[in-house]
Amino acid sequence: MVRSQVKSVDVLVIGGGGGGYPGAFRLSRAGYSVLMVDPKGVLGGNCLYSGCVPSKTVREMSLLAARARKFLGAQVRPEFFSEVQKHKDEVQEIRFAQHAEEIKENSTDYVKGTVEVKGPKDFVLRTDEGKAEEVHADYAIVATGTEVERPPIPGAELAITSDDIFSYHPTLTELPDEMVVIGGGYIAFEVASMFNALGTKVHVLVRSNRALREVDSRLVNMLLENLDKDIDVRFNSPTLAVEKRGAAKAVTFSQGGERKELVASQVLVATGRKPVTPKGLDTLFALNKGYVPTDEGMGTPLRNVFATGDVTGKTTYFHAAMRESLVAAHNIMAGGGREDYMDVRDVPVAIFTMPPIAYVGITPDRAVAMGMKIAEYSYPLKRDVMAQVYDERIGEVRVFVERETMRIVGGWIIGEDAPEVINEIGIAVQAGLNLRVMAEYAGQHPVPFEDLSYAARGAF
Ligand code: ADP
Repeated sequence: MVRSQVKSVDVLVIGGGGGGYPGAFRLSRAGYSVLMVDPKGVLGGNCLYSGCVPSKTVREMSLLAARARKFLGAQVRPEFFSEVQKHKDEVQEIRFAQHAEEIKENSTDYVKGTVEVKGPKDFVLRTDEGKAEEVHADYAIVATGTEVERPPIPGAELAITSDDIFSYHPTLTELPDEMVVIGGGYIAFEVASMFNALGTKVHVLVRSNRALREVDSRLVNMLLENLDKDIDVRFNSPTLAVEKRGAAKAVTFSQGGERKELVASQVLVATGRKPVTPKGLDTLFALNKGYVPTDEGMGTPLRNVFATGDVTGKTTYFHAAMRESLVAAHNIMAGGGREDYMDVRDVPVAIFTMPPIAYVGITPDRAVAMGMKIAEYSYPLKRDVMAQVYDERIGEVRVFVERETMRIVGGWIIGEDAPEVINEIGIAVQAGLNLRVMAEYAGQHPVPFEDLSYAARGAF
């Protein structure tokens, strides 16, 4: 191909998820020519296509079902789940359309296709119709995310994954009466909570003695104590095999040295995700277990190549990816220098179980590992107005401060609305606020977690 036929852009953004489009839009608005590519043909990445947005939709609808059962004596109709799945698709469609508008508003060039890497500034763009086009880009942002990984368990292919439940046009449209969940991470426990609320009998098989490894152990224990007792959680229960048993599936696992079996209409594997990188990227620099190595400015070993979001292996959250995408954009605007940095410690994390948990910054396990002396101030949710209104009087808010300075360094919340309210602690952590500011704040009443200021006032 002669040079004149090569498409030339300032920035190529590979992937249209949270790590991709915010930076693409930022750069377009700043006057850069930007080409963004994703095989989905819609923006939002896996978060919108099969992750956070659809799972939150199902979760909120199942919470409604649980509350309606409790307060209205309502029976959940058998077709409710398929209606929820339809509603989920509609929510996704609204957001796909919204992002299409944003592409126009920001005058970003977007193509449905897949990118391959040929050199630091040379790429090939392949479209579904098999068309291949050479692209020259001064800068690239790799934001290709992760995908579900099935564990090497015999018969694992008989199990469904979170994609079957939450993808746009999902394959699971009927509520299973019984489900075995294999895994001990946040997806395993979120799915267990929502299906339990919908009326499915749920078993969770955790391989080791520890669930939610990345979460502070005290918070995990509190969550496990407060999960609905109908959820059958079994620790130290590695799965050995999954097999067909008529229309159902049988899961064999070992527990206490014994071989045991559970038979259920559906089995879900939720044992992890693996990085997805554009073909040829590993010819530019070495990957780290498949993930793209990045520094705090989202730079890779090459000055003109940045990487953001899940593919960096640093965080797995859309909101972190979005901020990382902007950091990369700002550093491209600085000519590949460092104008902006990502502080992953300030990123709040929420796990949408029932009750949900959320945390941010430094929590006790991490303070011990860091040798930091912290003090903690808490307030129990049994005294919270909204917890009383909904009769969900479990959980707490807890704020952690550095001992010498009383600066807020972290916090956690367990209880409905935790994912919303954690942001208040997150802002305090990011701004390095003194606990006194939180204590002196005349927080709104009566709303969930006015107790943040009550907790802070415990210090004075
Ligand atoms: P993040 O939140 O980190 O941005 P996501 O997994 O949500 O990650 O989004 C990554 C997006 O990258 C997905 O929509 C996926 O289709 C897209 N993608 C993966 N590989 C390629 C590729 N080689 N070229 C273009 N897009 C890609």
